[in-house]
Amino acid sequence: MGIEYGVKDGALLWIRNPFTGAVLYFNEIHRKPHSFRRLTNTSPPKSAPQALSPETFNSEARRVQSACVFCPGNEAQTTHEVMRMSYGDVYPPEALPDGCAADDWAMRVVQNLVPRIPEVCTGGRNESYVIMEDARHFLPGATALGDVMWSGALPAGHIEHTLRLATRVMRHSLDNPAVKSVLIRKHQGRESGASQPHIHMQVIGVDRVFPTIEREIEVTDRHPEMWSESIDLMRTFGFQLEAGDGIVTQWSPFGSFSRHFEIISLEDWQPLTTLSEARMHVFSQYVHRLLRVLGPDPYDLEIHHGEGIPLHLHLNARRYVYANIGGTLNAPSDLAENVLPPTREMIQSLAQRMRDTQA
Ligand SMILES: [Zn+2]
Ligand SMILES: [Zn+2]
Repeated sequence: MGIEYGVKDGALLWIRNPFTGAVLYFNEIHRKPHSFRRLTNTSPPKSAPQALSPETFNSEARRVQSACVFCPGNEAQTTHEVMRMSYGDVYPPEALPDGCAADDWAMRVVQNLVPRIPEVCTGGRNESYVIMEDARHFLPGATALGDVMWSGALPAGHIEHTLRLATRVMRHSLDNPAVKSVLIRKHQGRESGASQPHIHMQVIGVDRVFPTIEREIEVTDRHPEMWSESIDLMRTFGFQLEAGDGIVTQWSPFGSFSRHFEIISLEDWQPLTTLSEARMHVFSQYVHRLLRVLGPDPYDLEIHHGEGIPLHLHLNARRYVYANIGGTLNAPSDLAENVLPPTREMIQSLAQRMRDTQA
C-alpha cells in the first residue's frame, strides 16, 4: 500500500493519512468569514498593550514572579519535588546565564496537580509530571510581560539536558508496574492550551500504550516502508527542512491537525529510555533547530517512541484555521494569512534559517 494523494499543477490537492485514514483537502477554508466573535461580543475592541517604562516593567515583573508557582521562591506552592537540576549541572562555569548561580535550580520536576490519567489506573500513584524547563520566567532583556522564556530561545545544550531529564522521569514512571508507556508532551502559548506561561513540559505515564502510538505500531508492522515513503514524498513536494544523521525534519500533513511538522529518526527504533547518549545528543540538536526557527508562536508537541516505530516528534503549530468533518480535514490552499504557511518557499526559507542557526 502506498500513500494515497492527488495532485493538481504540481501542488498537493489532497492526501490520506496512512495511520488514521483521514483525508486532508487543501482548500479556501481561511476565507470563511468569522462573525462569531463580532456578533457575540459587545465590548469595544481592546487597544494594543501600552509599552511599559523600565521601572513599571520591573515592578510588574516582580509581581508576576511572586505570583507564579513555577518561579524560584515559590517552591513550597508546587506538589513535592521529584527531581531537580542546577545551572551548574547544565552549563560550564564560564557559560552560566546572567544572574544564575551554579547551585540555583535550572529545572525542577513535580507531579502535576491534576493527574492526566486517574491515579487509580496507575497503581494509586500520580504519573503526570511537570518539568520546569528553566527557572527564568522572562527572556533576558524582556520589556513586556509577554516576553516570556520559550524553548527555542534556550541553547541546544539546555534542550538536550531537558530531554535527558524527561527520559529520567520516564524511567521513574516505568518503575511503577502499572505504567505501560510514557509520553513527553509540551504546549507553548495560551492558544495551544498551555495553562502556565512559565516554560514547562509534561511527562505522562499511562496504563496502556497510548492509542495514537498503538495505531502507528499496527500500521508500521503491516507497512514498515510507510515512514521512508512519507519522507520521500515530502521531499519530492519541497517540504523537507533538513536531513542528516539518519534524521529528517519536514512539514507533514499527517499530524492531529493540518499544520504539522515532524522530526523522524529512521535509525532509532528503540524506546527513548534505551537511546544511546550519542543519538540523544544528535536528536536534541534537530529538536533545538526546529523549535528555534518556529519561534515563540503557539504549538503543542509530542515525542513518540518505542518498539516497532522510529523515534519521532510531532509538532502542531496552533494559530491557524482548520476543520475536521467526518474523517476529512481542511487546510488552506493559500496560506498567506497564516503565521507559518507550509508553502515550498516558506519551508525553504525556514530550512535556510535552520542552516544558519548556530548549534
Ligand atoms: Zn514563573
Ligand atoms: Zn507519532
